[in-house]
Amino acid sequence: MKHIVPKVNKFYTTSFDANDISNIDLPEKSKEIIEEYNNSKSINDDYDLAAFTSNRQLVFGFHYMHKGNKNFIPELDPSVIYFSSAQMFSKMIYNYKRDLLNQSSLFKTNKEGKNETQSLDVTVKQFEMFFQFASSYIIMLSASLEAFVNKMIPIDYTFRTKKGSVKNIEWILRQNIELKLSKIIPECTQKDYSKEFNKKYQSILKIKNFRNELIHLSPKNEITNTKYKEFYRKVIDFRYSDSIYAIRDYINYYEEGLIEECDCGNEIYFDIHKK
Ligand SMILES: [Zn+2]
Repeated sequence: MKHIVPKVNKFYTTSFDANDISNIDLPEKSKEIIEEYNNSKSINDDYDLAAFTSNRQLVFGFHYMHKGNKNFIPELDPSVIYFSSAQMFSKMIYNYKRDLLNQSSLFKTNKEGKNETQSLDVTVKQFEMFFQFASSYIIMLSASLEAFVNKMIPIDYTFRTKKGSVKNIEWILRQNIELKLSKIIPECTQKDYSKEFNKKYQSILKIKNFRNELIHLSPKNEITNTKYKEFYRKVIDFRYSDSIYAIRDYINYYEEGLIEECDCGNEIYFDIHKK
């Protein structure tokens, strides 16, 4: 997968160029408000802030006070940023996995009876790096899905539980992702990914379960030589490349084109560099 284009949360494409409108075109009342706000030393979130881009878009954002100035920052869609991070972690997972598995067979000897394998310190480092990339990838993918799902639920939406009680948005947002995926999103969008693409939906559930294991990781209690071996084998075996496509397709099913691969030709990804 190529790297991902960041998306602003809210924008309008305009039919005119911002350079063509002058201050004179604005109503007097608007001019007063703009002047008062520009001269004030604080931020007021009661106003909508937007800026024109060079390609005739009006992009919404927010102010951040820095050294007495109001800096305008466009509001980006967080689910796309998390997804992009996952994509950037994905590039090296299989490289580090290959290094780990090809070179960590400690007991192999060559014909002369000499040990051919690397020192254990190198294997420790390889496993650490593989696990860092793999776990960051899964957590970022899950965060992307969660941010997207939460954004899709309208703030005035109510949900009726099996027992018949009516729940508001605060209650809904506190529920686990599975309820949102299986019931709430299909109800408020009238579209059900889990029914139309059940196989891909199952792989999304696998990511969700894996993410829960990572976040709530606890050691095995029974007396054995190590505490995490089953978990770590699962980390090595997990099908990382399937999951990113399942999440991309889920998001784009509900918001077409939101996850968009960039055609600029540059390869952008996270890796480890030592200076
Ligand atoms: Zn690009």
